[in-house]
Amino acid sequence: MIRAWMLFLLLVAPLLKAASPVYVVLWFDTEDYIEPASDDAALRIANDLTAAGVRATFKVVGEKARVLESRGRRDVIEALAKHAIGYHSNWHSVHPTPAEYLVPLGFLEGAQEFERREGPGVADVKRVFGTQPVCYGQPGSSWGPQSNPALRRLGIAVYLDEGDQVGLDEQPFWYGGLLHVFHMGRNTFRAQLNVGAEDTAAYQRFDDAAQRLRSSGGGAISIYYHPNEFVTTEFWDAANFAHGANPPREMWVKPRRRTAEDSERCYGVLRRFVAHMKSQPDVRFVTARDLPGLYENPLPRAMDGRADRQAIAEHLMNHVVFHEVQGQVLSPADMLLALLGVEPEIVDGPTAAGASTWSEPSIPAPAFQKATTDAADFVRRLHRLPAEVFIGAQTLSLPDFAATLAGGVLNPAAQVPVIRGRIEFDRYFATDPVKPFNWVIHPQGFSGAPLLELGRLQGWTLKPARLSR
Ligand SMILES: [Zn+2]
Repeated sequence: MIRAWMLFLLLVAPLLKAASPVYVVLWFDTEDYIEPASDDAALRIANDLTAAGVRATFKVVGEKARVLESRGRRDVIEALAKHAIGYHSNWHSVHPTPAEYLVPLGFLEGAQEFERREGPGVADVKRVFGTQPVCYGQPGSSWGPQSNPALRRLGIAVYLDEGDQVGLDEQPFWYGGLLHVFHMGRNTFRAQLNVGAEDTAAYQRFDDAAQRLRSSGGGAISIYYHPNEFVTTEFWDAANFAHGANPPREMWVKPRRRTAEDSERCYGVLRRFVAHMKSQPDVRFVTARDLPGLYENPLPRAMDGRADRQAIAEHLMNHVVFHEVQGQVLSPADMLLALLGVEPEIVDGPTAAGASTWSEPSIPAPAFQKATTDAADFVRRLHRLPAEVFIGAQTLSLPDFAATLAGGVLNPAAQVPVIRGRIEFDRYFATDPVKPFNWVIHPQGFSGAPLLELGRLQGWTLKPARLSR
């Protein structure tokens, strides 16, 4: 009997364990191309983690990759390449930074500009490290939603960073076709480097967060540092590019250094913190390369059955926001594609808010059918949602079109009643245009209002990421 029980435990324990995993994403923004001691810091951290059997993600700036190459630091490059390599913009803090150059541009033009400026940096990181970068994260708070389509074109599928512009319940989410680990709230913290030999308060925070995630079926914790923090007491970029300053290269100054002993203490703080996390049950360190495999594929199965369409229409008619339908989490874009009869695919949201000029309470069914066919064609050809859909010379905004379409699916009739769409995803986006973009490198008072507005329109693609079972 006891042996049978032991056998049961042996067989079942790993399953129970796998049911509530706590994934730790530990990442390092590897960006200081001015102070060469930061190269040594990256080397030391990568080697310490490798020795501890932990894999992390190093998000490398394009210019950092280039200076590692020109300084002959093959040792650093090889040590980092044992971990996952991400991308952290081409120049980081040299102006214009991404939000600065994206703010005057629309969605499509901004995506082109992001690709023009950042594509060469991605290529350099790939060439120097011999591997395609697996994730991106913006420098500072220099965020813009136009990066998403550009990153997909550049072959990057994960957005790994912190920021306040968009977030979903402190866990990873799908947005703009990328898996985002962003705005993680209580699930992002760190052991402070400046509190002594170790930060035991961070251990407690970690244990609390891990316990909370375990009890809700598992989840992710995001922890980040910069290698330069371990060797300097000020940031390399604040010393040169603060508030829009853009001195030429020969005027760049080096940031103030820590002493060698103090750096050693900092490495110890990280080493102990990692050892603590690693010793906890059900905790797994994962990289940005692992992440897409841990979450369910964002593309839903084809939803063309009557029950599927019915369930989708019932939701979309009243709520334009992600929702679980027939066992799948669907974004409003997923739902709209299903109702339009378009095969599931990654699409972008609309590029503008659009307007409804149709003033009658209903639309003749043949005219609405024509509009629906046109909308489906738009999505298939352009891989994004239209801002508005024409009924003859009049229009319905995308939310009104979607709700009206849903209503027509539920109650087919000779006259399709116009239903006003209710956008409910706005609550996942920041409203303050200044605070989320507050970064010492941006000009003082920099406003990202147009970026937030474009970002909210992409809320059509927003939905939680669900761990694969
Ligand atoms: Zn950075």
